[in-house]
Amino acid sequence: MEDTPIEITHLSVGEGAKGNIKIDNIEYENFYVKQKGSGESAYPTTLFCPKCSDTHEFNAKFGEWREKWNVNHKDLYFTIKYDYDENGDLFAICDKCGFDLREDYIYGSDDSKKELEPQIHTISILEAKYQDNSVCIGLSTYKKVIKEGINWKSDIIVSISGSKYRIKFQDFSNPANIVSKGDLIYIKWKCFRNRHL
Ligand SMILES: [Zn+2]
Repeated sequence: MEDTPIEITHLSVGEGAKGNIKIDNIEYENFYVKQKGSGESAYPTTLFCPKCSDTHEFNAKFGEWREKWNVNHKDLYFTIKYDYDENGDLFAICDKCGFDLREDYIYGSDDSKKELEPQIHTISILEAKYQDNSVCIGLSTYKKVIKEGINWKSDIIVSISGSKYRIKFQDFSNPANIVSKGDLIYIKWKCFRNRHL
């Protein structure tokens, strides 16, 4: 049996490859695009607004905001202008939201932005109880939500003692997460998240 020869492609920093074919990174005015894992990621080459840009996502496993694995160039907002502060010092500021780039932007600190996004097809359950490490709702409500949600598999917002929590439709409808007792359905608490996450 013959050995299959192994082809090795050498890459320098800033180069990319598809298979063994070397490609140049496509460069644009404010960013370049490079292969990252199975996708492509845009890397900014100039200042961008961290607040307007959509570069980070909340990682529920680690409970913190992290940079997205693949950042699309559309996620980046190059809306920076320069201005002088009261001391006459030149500084960079976002022309869109007014974020002062001398400050560190704390990801997740701007929940109001998320609040404004239209929540199309979100189903709400107004009355639920927390009990036995589960969220308890009536069987008839449960059936209604399944019927309503089956088409678009939307997240479900559940109010428990005035606080709102979110559950994915797939978790909501998964029999492994559910215990049925008489006219009540108990859904495991671990399936629920803070509504903004
Ligand atoms: Zn901005």
